[in-house]
Amino acid sequence: MPELPEVETTLRGIKPHIIHQKITEVVVRHKQLRWPLPPRLKAKLQGSIVQNIARRGKYLLFGFDHGTLILHLGMSGRLHILPCTATAQKHDHLDICFENQKCLRLTDPRRFGAVLWTPEPPEHHALLCHIGPEPLTGAFNGDYLYEQAQNKKIAIKSYIMDSRIVAGVGNIYATEALFDAGIHPERSAGSLTRTNYQALAAAIQSVLKKAIKKGGTTLKDFTRPSGSPGYFSVELQVYGRDGEPCLRCASTLRLLRLAQRSTVFCPRCQK
Ligand code: ZN
Repeated sequence: MPELPEVETTLRGIKPHIIHQKITEVVVRHKQLRWPLPPRLKAKLQGSIVQNIARRGKYLLFGFDHGTLILHLGMSGRLHILPCTATAQKHDHLDICFENQKCLRLTDPRRFGAVLWTPEPPEHHALLCHIGPEPLTGAFNGDYLYEQAQNKKIAIKSYIMDSRIVAGVGNIYATEALFDAGIHPERSAGSLTRTNYQALAAAIQSVLKKAIKKGGTTLKDFTRPSGSPGYFSVELQVYGRDGEPCLRCASTLRLLRLAQRSTVFCPRCQK
């Protein structure tokens, strides 16, 4: 599943090709993703110019003069930049073609992705209006996490994966950040100290930045018809390594289920 770094990498991969470009054609091959595609999408987009492209959490926002196209990659969505003439394959559900003869193509085998339209400022949209601060901005830091956590009994891992608290921290990076900060994933959010939260905020930012940097090496893949643009393997310290030795202390890493998500941790390094 694409997490924040993959979505950020996708943004960086496609933006230079389509920013300030006029849309010449829209082809919808499958009207139903997670939700139905916006009605009359072609009429809405054709002739319009992409004024800006931004990310909010795991949503991509394509800004036009008259509204915003909101796109979520879901479980398996991918975007490519291809020539307008490229033949569509089975899971290619949406093409947006531009005056420069390039096509933004959405491929999504599992169809959990989303394409939505809003004429309002996108931050007012129901899916976006409750999202917390972006983890890589100044609004997100240890003091903020600490203050929001007061009297909260939920497990720290669930707390940092709550998009109302912070945008776009998914299972992989939450698991890695907790290891990095030496915090047990089941600790209650309200029991952590300000110092814990400072370490945790720094760890979240560090793992996300490392992954985004790694994603930079895949940017050329966006213009290749095959492959998985925006997907890349980061060196993970704990995620997916249960039963293997901790890279710090050599204790056996353990697996637990927390809010229906698998979590790997080191019983010695994480308290
Ligand atoms: Zn350890």
